[in-house]
Amino acid sequence: MNSENFDYIIIGGGSAGAVLAHRLTASGEHNVCLLEAGPEDKTPMIKIPGAFSYFMFSKKYNWNYDAKVDPNIRHGEPMFVPRGKTLGGSSATNAMLYVRGQKEDYDHWESLGNEGWSFDHMLPYFKQAETNERGGDDFHGDSGPLYVSDRPNLYPISDVFIKGAQEAGYPLNNDFNGATQEGVGYYQCTIKDGQRCGVSLGYLTPARARPNLTVLTEALVSRVVTQNQQATAVEFSHQGQQKRFSINKEVLLCGGSINSPQVLLLSGIGDKDELSAHNIDCVKHLPGVGKNLREHVDACILVNSKKRDGFTSSIGGILGMIPDTFNYLLNKKGKLANSILEAGGFLKTQPDLATPDVQLHMVPLLFDDNGRDLKLMRDHGYSCHVCVLRPESTGSVTLASNNPSDHPVIDFNFFADAKDQKVLVDGLKLVRKIMATPAFEEHRGEEFYPGSDVVSDQALFEKAKGRLGTVYHPVGTCKMGHDELAVVDSQLKVHGIGRLRVIDASIMPTLVSGNTNAPTIAIAEKAADMILNQA
Ligand SMILES: Cc1cc2nc3c(=O)[nH]c(=O)nc-3n(C[C@H](O)[C@H](O)[C@H](O)COP(=O)(O)OP(=O)(O)OC[C@H]3O[C@@H](n4cnc5c(N)ncnc54)[C@H](O)[C@@H]3O)c2cc1C
Repeated sequence: MNSENFDYIIIGGGSAGAVLAHRLTASGEHNVCLLEAGPEDKTPMIKIPGAFSYFMFSKKYNWNYDAKVDPNIRHGEPMFVPRGKTLGGSSATNAMLYVRGQKEDYDHWESLGNEGWSFDHMLPYFKQAETNERGGDDFHGDSGPLYVSDRPNLYPISDVFIKGAQEAGYPLNNDFNGATQEGVGYYQCTIKDGQRCGVSLGYLTPARARPNLTVLTEALVSRVVTQNQQATAVEFSHQGQQKRFSINKEVLLCGGSINSPQVLLLSGIGDKDELSAHNIDCVKHLPGVGKNLREHVDACILVNSKKRDGFTSSIGGILGMIPDTFNYLLNKKGKLANSILEAGGFLKTQPDLATPDVQLHMVPLLFDDNGRDLKLMRDHGYSCHVCVLRPESTGSVTLASNNPSDHPVIDFNFFADAKDQKVLVDGLKLVRKIMATPAFEEHRGEEFYPGSDVVSDQALFEKAKGRLGTVYHPVGTCKMGHDELAVVDSQLKVHGIGRLRVIDASIMPTLVSGNTNAPTIAIAEKAADMILNQA
């Protein structure tokens, strides 16, 4: 077996892994190896912000998971779970919205006994990661690797939405990451000079010039090797060979919320009964591995447009993108230089709530099934997607087999807690209220889905399940904490196993109230600090 030795081995070159690769190699003191299952991020499609949907069809850059079928959801079709599989991970394929969540999310983590994770502790890491083109201030950084920009609003329905929401009584907010999150507005995006600024560009590109960083792509890690309850090495397949690299210091598992629990289980760290069912020797009985899966469950309202000025996948719609294609190639401007998600908001479904409980994503097209329903998209229309910001329902990631190449079983277990159903339905009603305002008058065609005849809460819920989706934010499967389902402690060290940390979205004990890329990057920034200061 081919073997080498490093101070740190990072498993997974995604949002968290890339940050660690950059920070841990900066001083030149540590010898670091990054193992990424996906290929190099060479395709130009990653750089083009408007090419978001391309990845929904990619076999090469996407893990293409399907969730366990629930006969009550999407009429029993499997729910698609895309995850980035390349350098940059999901930050290479995401929609680039820059959102941190609410101060209260992090204060809640701290209140669960996770010392050092309150918002006041996290804010310096958000700022350290960020260069906001508006400049630095109390909330924003101006010299970090992640470039955050305002985008021009190119689809009229985005402005209509903002106007309509204000007519419906909701406040305008021009910075979702400032003093308060509540309101409607335009999203800032991780886009620089018309190109995606994922962690590969921001963090890995400068780090790869350093001699103390080794990056291997198409390296699928099969397990972390332990001896006497300490991680000692990592086994993986690379170019048809089985390899084992050993560590002097630590293994840092950054495979994301689906794959990190899979790797732990394959390494014998997890629920002993699940391990024995797959003939894996139990190294450490940690029943929480893969449990506590939380995701932003999402439903939509689709409306036909009289104005016909959004995006369609019809021949006319595709031909209409030709000028934008030239504009992009020549100037890096136009619709291809933007995320298609321009406007949205964070609103309260009940006025007496302390903070928003739903997020809206306004889409200038008929968008369902992750943009894979091209037939639906042929017609002119617009969609508003609404998600439950802090779902109570928890699901799981479990092994399908002990073969590292087999997809794990993802069970979201949506609506196990009835509170999520109520928030979702109230959110849909709130969207209808916005869409009924005078601002939408010239655009509003027929409500295509759920349909204006679907009125009662129960009927709305039943119909919403037919096109149910996610916002691609699985978290919590290796949660930080101290209870019986906790997997890592507040230094992100795996309970009961030395020299092994999990650092990615999976450590979040609860979901943050917003998109998860910036929070994952901030988690990794904090973890790098802890590692370098040997917490
Ligand atoms: C389609 C999509 C759209 C999204 N849109 C947004 C958005 O607009 N804004 C936002 O804030 N968030 C968004 N997100 C979510 C955000 O991108 C993720 O939460 C974040 O990237 C998660 O970071 P991570 O480090 O936990 O995992 P990832 O970034 O997914 O990284 C995990 C890495 O580990 C690698 N890996 C996994 N298993 C192994 C193994 N066994 N061996 C070796 N390597 C392995 C993977 O290939 C991957 O590169 C989106 C996500 C998706 C998928």
